[in-house]
Amino acid sequence: MIRLPKQQLYSRKLFDPLVKKASSHKATAALIILFVFYFFLPIFLAALLDHRLWISLLIFYPLNVIMVIALAHGNAGRKHRLEIESQGFQERLNILSDANLKGIKTKAALQEKIRRYHSLKEIIENLNRALNTDTVGTSLITIAFSLIANHKGACILYLVDQQNHHLSAFKTKKDDKRLIIKEKEGDIFDFWILRHAAPLLIEDARKDFRFDLERLSLQETRSVSSLIGAPLLSEHNFLGILRMDNPVPGFYTQDDLRLLVTICDIGAVALENSELYRKTQDLAIHDGLTSLYTKGYFLERIREEARRSIRQKAVFCLFMLDIDHFKNINDSLGHTAGDLVLKEISLLLTVFLKSYGAIISRFGGEEFCVILPHVEKKKAHEAAEDLRLKISEKKINIRGQDTRVTVSIGVTAFPDDTTEENDLILKADMAMYEAKQKGRNRVVCVR
Ligand code: GH3
Ligand code: MG
Ligand code: MG
Repeated sequence: MIRLPKQQLYSRKLFDPLVKKASSHKATAALIILFVFYFFLPIFLAALLDHRLWISLLIFYPLNVIMVIALAHGNAGRKHRLEIESQGFQERLNILSDANLKGIKTKAALQEKIRRYHSLKEIIENLNRALNTDTVGTSLITIAFSLIANHKGACILYLVDQQNHHLSAFKTKKDDKRLIIKEKEGDIFDFWILRHAAPLLIEDARKDFRFDLERLSLQETRSVSSLIGAPLLSEHNFLGILRMDNPVPGFYTQDDLRLLVTICDIGAVALENSELYRKTQDLAIHDGLTSLYTKGYFLERIREEARRSIRQKAVFCLFMLDIDHFKNINDSLGHTAGDLVLKEISLLLTVFLKSYGAIISRFGGEEFCVILPHVEKKKAHEAAEDLRLKISEKKINIRGQDTRVTVSIGVTAFPDDTTEENDLILKADMAMYEAKQKGRNRVVCVR
């Protein structure tokens, strides 16, 4: 017989009254029969056999004993049958209860799956909306930490540097703020995922023969018993790793791993899209040849700088710079040589003006425009002179031959010369043309 678990005792209670009811009916019937035999039969027999009571009793008592035995025997048989029937019911009840328990568990597991896949839908929508890597990273780690780790243990999102293929922790989450995540460049588990480009599930790190825990320095700061991790793979690149760990063994399941792989697949596409978006944005604001800012982006920055200067009552200066007789270089040495000169001058501008926090743009063909934030006109004039000299001294090697170029520079100051951005550019342009007219290779400051 299957023994009833505690919670199923109610089933026994259900059937006991039935058994008791049946046996109480039998007892009543037996009492009635006994009553009839004891009181009416001796009287009847005594009357019939002419008051010879001993004969009546002689017949009555053995008969009585036989009947009691027969009744008891019949009752025992019925009781046994009822007990067997009751056991049968209980067994069926136990089976049904087991099935019911299994059903409850399956229902709970299905509800959890529905909740997870519902969240997954949200992740896809969020990630599709996210256009920068930072937002994608935050969405990924938040969703993985809540859906898979239930906000327990630690979660790390690594990104792979595409140049040197090193891991670096991009986002982290942990349940205990005092926890220190030391492995900023990954640990033995992350390197395993990186090497195999495959997901990893560890139920108990101490029992996993694949890993030498002595090499695991992080154990000093936090304990890792179970771990789950998956790579973020695009079609051609290993983009990163999303991994979680917990001090409790067996914290993660195969189901968790499947969900993590799905999240990582979606995450990899989102990361790649954000990188493409960044590149597109970068291309839109940077000049392809010189990598300096484009004119469009630079005009926005001037407007921004002008607003800030008015707000903070600060100053800034503007250089308009044009290479002298640049056409001659193209004509004598070729267009490629001209391009090389443009690149070299751009590099020199970037290096020389770095300490000024300058915003430099390629404004036209061989024309450059520069903002010097928080620089007074006098200081800007001196900087322009130094720059002009530096450029004139710069030797540019073209096909083994040292070539030099000079520049003419116009300088204006905001708000000294004007408080209107377009006017500021126009004035700097005019100052630059004045420098050209005065013989080139010189600086003219708007007075
Ligand atoms: P000035 O001293 O008056 O400025 O004379 P310039 O020769 O520098 O001025 P001009 O405007 O006559 O010529 C500018 C030349 O720059 C014309 C054009 O072919 C060249 N140029 C513009 N963009 C590029 C470029 O991207 N690469 C090369 N190699 N040349 C360019
Ligand atoms: Mg020129
Ligand atoms: Mg020009």
